[in-house]
Amino acid sequence: MVPGGRLVVLGKQGAGKGTQCMRLSHHYVIPHISTGEMLRAAVKAKTPLGKEAQRYLDAGELIPDVIVLEMVGERLDQDDTKARGFVLDGFPRTVAQAKGLAALLSPSELDLVIDLEVPTEVVLCRLASRRVCVDCEAIYSVEQPPRVPWICDNCGGEVIQREDDTEAAIKRRLDLYDKETAPLVEWYEASGKLVRAPGLGTPDEVSDGLVAIIDERRGAGGFSFP
Ligand code: AMP
Repeated sequence: MVPGGRLVVLGKQGAGKGTQCMRLSHHYVIPHISTGEMLRAAVKAKTPLGKEAQRYLDAGELIPDVIVLEMVGERLDQDDTKARGFVLDGFPRTVAQAKGLAALLSPSELDLVIDLEVPTEVVLCRLASRRVCVDCEAIYSVEQPPRVPWICDNCGGEVIQREDDTEAAIKRRLDLYDKETAPLVEWYEASGKLVRAPGLGTPDEVSDGLVAIIDERRGAGGFSFP
């Protein structure tokens, strides 16, 4: 395993991006940057950004590109991401954000964009049964709950069903994905950075597949990092 890399993981909500990004972050020793997590933390801390973001989050709508780009730009300016790279989770979500990201990274660039493919019927079931820890965002489900009901195994935090995991909000987020985010896949494909990876299987099977894809790409000289 060679540490470091600049990675993006795309995929519908419920494709397993959060779980897989966390695993890739541990495997390659790179910061996991989840824009959803950053925004939820801002809402919880009642920062000016959080107050602005709350209504979009509650409605399952996308935060305006300019706000998200500023937030991500500040994060990418920190020493850990400069030294080791990152795995981006939930960002970019629009072609405008992808262009903004390229400008933020220039003259460097992304090493790889992974599209985690899972059929819509499967993500609908996964989202409806998803439960998350409010503190560390560990992911559970109705089928695989924490050992003590509603208490996180990792940190003892409260485990909840996210407010935007209701049926109506899920539908809105999936529609938005088709409209705003699916064109991103084509955009990255045209840039030669995209690989499609199967998102079905156990978390271990999926992460083994992702590591194999990333290592193969790196071995073939497909990484510009560091
Ligand atoms: P997630 O945890 O990635 O599902 O994100 C939860 C919510 O945060 C989304 O429904 C959006 O309201 C907001 N959000 C997260 N990332 C972005 C982004 N890159 N662009 C716009 N809104 C975002």
